[in-house]
Amino acid sequence: MLQISRRAAQIAPSATLAIDARAKALKAEGKDVIGFGVGEPDFDTPAYVRDAAHRAIEEGKTRYTPVGGTLSLRKKIAEKFLKDNGLAYEPGEIIVSSGAKQSIFMALSVLVDEGDEVLIPSPYWVSYPEMVKMVGGTPVFVPCRHEDAFRVRPEEIAKRVTPKTKVLILNSPSNPNGCVLPRETLAQIADLAVEKGFYVISDEIYEKLVYDGCEHISIAALGEQIKAQTVVVNGASKAYAMTGWRIGYAGGPLEIVKAMNAFQSHASSNACSVSQYAVEAALSGGEEELAGMVRAFDARRKLICQLINEVPGLAADLPQGAFYVMMDVRGVLGKRCDEVAIESAHDFASFLLEKKCVAVVPGEAFGAPGFVRISYAVGEEKIREGVRRMAEFVAALT
Ligand code: PMP
Ligand code: GLU
Repeated sequence: MLQISRRAAQIAPSATLAIDARAKALKAEGKDVIGFGVGEPDFDTPAYVRDAAHRAIEEGKTRYTPVGGTLSLRKKIAEKFLKDNGLAYEPGEIIVSSGAKQSIFMALSVLVDEGDEVLIPSPYWVSYPEMVKMVGGTPVFVPCRHEDAFRVRPEEIAKRVTPKTKVLILNSPSNPNGCVLPRETLAQIADLAVEKGFYVISDEIYEKLVYDGCEHISIAALGEQIKAQTVVVNGASKAYAMTGWRIGYAGGPLEIVKAMNAFQSHASSNACSVSQYAVEAALSGGEEELAGMVRAFDARRKLICQLINEVPGLAADLPQGAFYVMMDVRGVLGKRCDEVAIESAHDFASFLLEKKCVAVVPGEAFGAPGFVRISYAVGEEKIREGVRRMAEFVAALT
């Protein structure tokens, strides 16, 4: 039959990347676009990392590496896991992929059978449900409440566990809502996973971006048993402003990581060799650059929430981690823009981009209708100008 597979037909393209593409296309047309859409640090990759990449190229480190990454990089990642997360992994228990996105996809590919259920706290990062469907699994959403700052309640997870539950995806600090799960919550979730027997994929890509003295804890560090059921995912994109270099990695039980290696060996082979050398350097330093970046994000986070809350009809709670704010737009739904009713966050985002050239991602993409996600990984001037335009937009609604 001349048609794409049923599985492919169910998959929507990434809304975050689509908004980014639209914003960049408008920019290319000469429009003055404020991009609050994609989650990408605006900082340059630190100079010491770029230098390491140049050196790697000059030294001819441009060939295939082992599928799961060079041994020296995996050793460096093992050091990082131990130092930052209290997790002891052998290099063989670590895999390097082309982005954390690929690490998550590989983990789901080797853990999920057709019809297995994967628990996903909602709001969720846009790619999780689609990835689950791509591997033949069924996403099962665990609703989180606005009044809990969107932190998942362990009892809500427990209610949705069935004999088919295979994996829970955790993401703390979270994209899209910036919530950070405290130790007690993680401990309860770990107990549940051990008792009921399901795996955890813990996406910790935003671990370095926490504020207000908040602590990032890896669920895998809470005991040997939960560690044996968890794949911890991390990467260089956010902590080192290296989104385009495409390096992510995962640590987990040997059997799982071996299976991920086998999949990756057929799907894509090793991640870019030059990027691997660059990330090895990144992980060897950068405390100062990182601290500077966190300070900047912290200030922007406070600024953008304050400015949004000054706009009648819009609201935003201060997030504790990552670089996203969920902006509540329910106060303006039902109003009209050019005689057309704004009935959803999706409508709000479309009109805002069209009328004011401000890109945000509608909450529907994250299972959060009534909200739009704002990435504040842009400079303060852009934040001020972006919110000023939003205020103008809202004031003109009838
Ligand atoms: N997980 C989350 C929660 C993300 O927001 C992102 C976005 N970049 C990723 C994983 C993937 O990151 P990358 O593939 O760039 O390492
Ligand atoms: N993770 C970022 C975001 O949510 C980058 C885009 C993507 O990979 O989806 O905007």
